[in-house]
Amino acid sequence: MERIYLDHAATTPLDKEILDKMLPYLTDCYGNADSPHAFGRKAMGGVDSARDKIADLLNAKPNEVYFTSGGTESDNWAIIGGAYAAKERGRDHIILSAIEHHAALAAAEKLQKEGFSVDYLPVDRTGRISADSLRARMTERTGLVAVMAVNNETGALQPIKELANIAHEAGAVFFTDAVQAAPHMALDVKALGVDMLAISAHKFYGPKGCGVLYIKSGVKVKPLVVGGEQERGLRGGTTNVAAVVGMAAALEKNVRTMSANNEKIATLRQVFLEGISGVDGLRVYGGAGDVSAVLSLRFLGVSGVDLVYNLDLAGVSVSAGAACASASVKPSHVMMAMGLTEKEARECIRVSFGKDNTEEEVREAAALLKEIVEKLRKS
Ligand SMILES: *Cc1c(COP(=O)(O)O)cnc(C)c1O
Repeated sequence: MERIYLDHAATTPLDKEILDKMLPYLTDCYGNADSPHAFGRKAMGGVDSARDKIADLLNAKPNEVYFTSGGTESDNWAIIGGAYAAKERGRDHIILSAIEHHAALAAAEKLQKEGFSVDYLPVDRTGRISADSLRARMTERTGLVAVMAVNNETGALQPIKELANIAHEAGAVFFTDAVQAAPHMALDVKALGVDMLAISAHKFYGPKGCGVLYIKSGVKVKPLVVGGEQERGLRGGTTNVAAVVGMAAALEKNVRTMSANNEKIATLRQVFLEGISGVDGLRVYGGAGDVSAVLSLRFLGVSGVDLVYNLDLAGVSVSAGAACASASVKPSHVMMAMGLTEKEARECIRVSFGKDNTEEEVREAAALLKEIVEKLRKS
């Protein structure tokens, strides 16, 4: 049985072309990029050109690109490091959207325990944040605002530029988690007007354990990982050279192939939704104007975990909410923020398409899902 993978928001497979570009840095070119000798210089050459390439793709300067271990570290660093720096300016209030990734929410919870005050922006039924709700919460003590660019459960796109402007007018720093945006849209930090932005390589066919935090020059952020002079003294640790090289190559390829991929994915989504369209009590979350690769859906009265389990047995991999939420089987905070009750949120599953899925695969997955829903409703 060929398994069907429809969980690209959790992770994507490493592109073989990208692996080939990484391999020399995992074998012959093993120097520590910070060593001043020939081995080190060769490794640093790879790191430098990766940094240049990523800066170029994000419309940033190379010295504004900081390599991290992925989206979680970038989110943690931006929020905790940004809040600590803001506190030194007398600002101890931060604002996050209620639908941030757990990596951001947990960072805010930690800050709250340390005495920061934290406010959460609500979303409407379609998962969107309004400019007015941010405006209403800004105070002269607000030091940091964090709103993700694209949600990882619904694909909902947020008005980042507008929100960043509001934060800036009140003297706060603006951070966006663009981990789910990077696979599907070109990112320009200047056009977005953000001070910090996070991406993660494994969400766009690059290696796991590697990400970027963009920090605009002049923006103050305290380091989180200390112990070395790497990343201009702000993020210690021997550079993961092969991963950084792979991330740059993956981002470049992703940008180059993005419009064709997006077009294909939009068709896959349509085929999938047509395949399940006859089923009673179907609700789809995420839609017009959002990223089409990610959607959450729900069949009234059917448990999401049961659906995921039965689909897996049938060879189709999807997720119940976000990947991290499904292990603990907690109802999704995103769906609850959109107004669903806990029981309704437990009925949700997330389906996320990728560039290598085929129409045949999604048609089959939809047919299997339809069958399983009917079977579960009878039992
Ligand atoms: C996957 C994801 C993260 C975490 O990134 P990792 O590299 O897996 O740590 C953060 N934010 C969003 C929106 C994500 O989808």
